[in-house]
Amino acid sequence: MSYALQSIYVDHAATTPLIPAAREAMYSFEAKGFYNPSSSYRPAQEMKRVLETARKTLAATIDAQAREIYFTASGTEANNWALKGISESLSSRGHHIIVSAIEHHAVLEPAHWLERHGFEVTYLSADCQGVITPEVLEAALRDDTIMVSIMTANNELGTIEPIRELASCAHRVGAVFHTDAVQAYGHIPLSVSELGIDTLSVSAHKLGGPRGVGFLYRRQGIDAEPLLHGGAQERGARAGTENLAAIVGFQVAAEEACSHLEDYQAHVSYVRDEFCKRIMQAIPDIRINADHVQKLPGHAHVSFKGISNIALLLRLDKRGIYASAGSACASGSLEQSHVLTALGIEPDWAQGSLRFTFGRDNTLRDVVSMVEVLKHEVARLRAL
Ligand code: PLP
Repeated sequence: MSYALQSIYVDHAATTPLIPAAREAMYSFEAKGFYNPSSSYRPAQEMKRVLETARKTLAATIDAQAREIYFTASGTEANNWALKGISESLSSRGHHIIVSAIEHHAVLEPAHWLERHGFEVTYLSADCQGVITPEVLEAALRDDTIMVSIMTANNELGTIEPIRELASCAHRVGAVFHTDAVQAYGHIPLSVSELGIDTLSVSAHKLGGPRGVGFLYRRQGIDAEPLLHGGAQERGARAGTENLAAIVGFQVAAEEACSHLEDYQAHVSYVRDEFCKRIMQAIPDIRINADHVQKLPGHAHVSFKGISNIALLLRLDKRGIYASAGSACASGSLEQSHVLTALGIEPDWAQGSLRFTFGRDNTLRDVVSMVEVLKHEVARLRAL
């Protein structure tokens, strides 16, 4: 497969390049041993120690205990497990669940599945900046609400939700509070105890770790029926031999991300802000969405009035600029993003919306090139 030599990758919300330290740790781990951490002989027990060290290190990054971390194969699995597993274990108390309308499909689809299996789901609307307010949640809570799931930060807009306030509303009626932190983890500080989070899902590939590994944080005392049945791995809660090399890479990437968080935030928000400022000056009839709220540092969501985002993406791709029309999991679908629909953005603006998500390797030079290309391509599309 060949890519343009001078390509500019601005789709870090879809996935991030594996950081060199994580890649090296994975290679050297695989070269040392392949044993199954559940086996009893000595080299396997060493694998078990590696696994437990990773669990402890990752737990510390969110102020959790090691025993509250359960490894999964993805953020999708962690979300599915939280929604289905907790709903099932609390079904004797009630059947009402609340999720936001702007969740990722990894939460919305299990919510739809639960609706088909006897649960009632309320979908909370966001305000025009993509914020789910505590007032909206308060109005939807009922005595039989067993679970509330609201993402820490939205994958399309980058909006950070008021998690502490939302969790405390949910707790007032005794509901479990789950948050999908796949986009936020490693990008903003997260403390489950300070925020009052009961369960939280993350994924390694959004912060410089490998694809195919994540975890579910489950506060001690919160029960969830297993999603996967089989062996006794993960204290009997999640069957399947652990992907230890990936877990080692995840540990290294998370340590790196969490220990350099401030430098990372300062760099990506500077590059992102320069990009927003410069395209606003260079191109008429554009809007930066969710611009007046707390946002992830690398996210810019831009609407170019009167053009098709798919056409613009294709032109950018030809010029070696890799961005996205929204969630990577929904790309290929020609339907308008459910997030933009939920925000009530007018179709004329929504259909020309693109997400640019910056990472630690992006530079001001990338921004200058991108603005030039965008100016030219948007003008050409508008002239058609
Ligand atoms: N949740 C959010 C908010 C996401 O952005 C994504 C991926 O884009 C997921 C969940 C799914 O994570 P994974 O790719 O690890 O399954």
